[in-house]
Amino acid sequence: MKVFLNPGHDTKYDSGAINPNSGLRECDVAAHVGALVKHYLELAGCECELMQSDNLAPTSKGRSYYPDRQGLTVTETANEWGADVFVSIHCNAAPEAGTARGTETECYGGGDGEQLAGCIQNQLIDSIDTVDRGVKYMPELLVLKCTDMPAVLVELAFIDNDDDAALLVDRQNDFARAIARGVTDYEQAVEG
Ligand SMILES: [Zn+2]
Repeated sequence: MKVFLNPGHDTKYDSGAINPNSGLRECDVAAHVGALVKHYLELAGCECELMQSDNLAPTSKGRSYYPDRQGLTVTETANEWGADVFVSIHCNAAPEAGTARGTETECYGGGDGEQLAGCIQNQLIDSIDTVDRGVKYMPELLVLKCTDMPAVLVELAFIDNDDDAALLVDRQNDFARAIARGVTDYEQAVEG
């Protein structure tokens, strides 16, 4: 199975959300967890591509913000590579910092994307002692809307909540193994 991994944001151009107390950056957590997911999926026999950029789609703001960037966007790259599944990795943040906790997995709608999201969410909740925020439909997200294959966006935990932020520092390996197991659970389910 060909798995396209997209750690969210960009370590150079866009930090994503930041913990106000520790300065922990979403882009760095996503990069570390994404690299670990790639490691575990390759051990399981998957072929992986990893691309971290917020230049997400031809219509996204990334291209006009960073006109020096050449080449394809994240979703175009995944589509041209012929990925079987697409996994974007992010950290959540609440409108009022620190007020929410938990893990959720987002998909475009029903079908294979929702099944993939369910497999990953189940593994995350089995591995991490956290709040189960469930699978959510987010059809407006570019990485879910502009991808041709089943796609999910994992919100690992709330980086602006200090308890969740501790998980994001201490449990990166467990998050990654759970995401990888979710992908292989999905692979077994669809391939029988
Ligand atoms: Zn994000």
